[in-house]
Amino acid sequence: LQKAHDELQRSVLELERRNQEMRLIGEMVELLESCRGLEEAYEVVTRRIVHLLQDTSGALYVITPSRNMLECVGSWGEPTLEYEKTFDPEDCWALRRNKPHGMDTEASDLICKHVEEAHCTPGVYLCIPMVAHGEVIGLLHIRYATENRNAKSIIANSAQAATEQLSLILANLRLRDTLRNQSIRDPQTGLFNRRYMEDSLDRELSRAERSGKPVVVAMLDIDHFKHLNDNYGHSAGDAVLRDWSNLLKTRFRGSDIVCRYGGEEFVIILPEISVDNARQRLEQLRQDLRRVAVRQDGQTIDGVTVSMGIAYYPVHGRTNQSLLQTADKALYRAKELGRDCIVTASEETQDDAAVDWSFRTS
Ligand code: GH3
Ligand code: MG
Ligand code: MG
Repeated sequence: LQKAHDELQRSVLELERRNQEMRLIGEMVELLESCRGLEEAYEVVTRRIVHLLQDTSGALYVITPSRNMLECVGSWGEPTLEYEKTFDPEDCWALRRNKPHGMDTEASDLICKHVEEAHCTPGVYLCIPMVAHGEVIGLLHIRYATENRNAKSIIANSAQAATEQLSLILANLRLRDTLRNQSIRDPQTGLFNRRYMEDSLDRELSRAERSGKPVVVAMLDIDHFKHLNDNYGHSAGDAVLRDWSNLLKTRFRGSDIVCRYGGEEFVIILPEISVDNARQRLEQLRQDLRRVAVRQDGQTIDGVTVSMGIAYYPVHGRTNQSLLQTADKALYRAKELGRDCIVTASEETQDDAAVDWSFRTS
C-alpha cells in the first residue's frame, strides 16, 4: 500500500511539473507572438526561460543570414559565466549532428569547441539546436547549476519541449523582419526607400505640429555622376553609392531618416533639431563625403562632390510635398551655382532659394 501510495504521489508531482512546464511555455509563446521585432523576442526568451529552466544559466544563439556563424543574442542566469559571442556552426557537436548534445549518451564526453574547455567537464552543459522548417535557426546553450542526474534530465526535457515551440516562432518573426526590411529598404544601399521616407515624413510633420519643433529636410544629389559612370564604369558608380551610403548610415541618429530617393539622390530628414545644428551637421557631411576615396577594380575614385538643398518645417511648407519640392528647388539652385555647395531655401518665399555662402568652400 505504501509503495502504491508513493508511486501515485510521484505521478501526481510529475503531472504537476508537466502542467507548470506547459503553462510557462504557453506564456512565453503568447508573449513572443505579440513581440514587435526580433530584439524584443530575444529578450522575452532570455528573461522568461529562467522560470522554466530553474538551476540553469545559458545563452541563446541565432544563425547569421549568411549561415556561417552563430551569434549570441542574449543570456540568462549566472552573470559571471562567459559565452562565445560568435562561433562557427562546425564548433558545436549539436549543430553538426543536428541533435541535442550533452545529454547522457555515448557522445556526451565530447566537449564542443565553442565552450571554454577549461571551465567545462562533460555533463555540465547541454546544446539544443533550434530547427524550423527543416533549417537550423539557432542554438540553446544551457549550463546546469545542479549535479543531480534526475534534475538534469528534467531540465533537458523541458528545454527540448520549449525549443521546439520557440524555434518556429523565432523563425516566423525573423521572416517577418526580413520582409519588412525588404519593403522599407533600398536593396542596393540598405538605406530606407522613398515610400518609407514619405510615410515617416508625414508622421514627423504631425508630431512637429504638436511639439512646435522644426523638421529639416535635405535633398542631396551627387555631382556629375553620369561622368563618373562614363569615365570609370557603372560598377565604380555603384561602389561610390555603396560607400557613400555606408557613411550616411553612421552619421545620423536613430530617429533621423536617411533615404535613397532615387538613382544618385538621397533625402535626409532630421526631426526635432535646431536649423543651425542641422546645417552644421550637413555641412560637415558634405565635406566628409568629398573626402571618401572609393576603391573598385584596382582604381581609386575620389573627389566626388555633392550638392544639397535644405528646406524646413514650418517655414518652407507644412506638407510632405511642399517641403520636398522646396528642398528640390534649393538643390537645383545649388547645381546652378556650380555644385559642391549647400543652398537653404529662402525664408521669404518658397520659390526663391537663397544661398548660404558661408557653406561654400570651393
Ligand atoms: P548633376 O551634377 O547635374 O547631378 O549631374 P549628374 O550626371 O549627376 O546627373 P544626371 O541626373 O544627368 O545623371 C545621373 C546619373 O546617375 C545617370 C545614371 O546613369 C546614374 N545612376 C543612377 N542610378 C545609378 C546606379 O544605381 N548606379 C550607377 N552606377 N549609376 C546610377
Ligand atoms: Mg540626379
Ligand atoms: Mg547628380
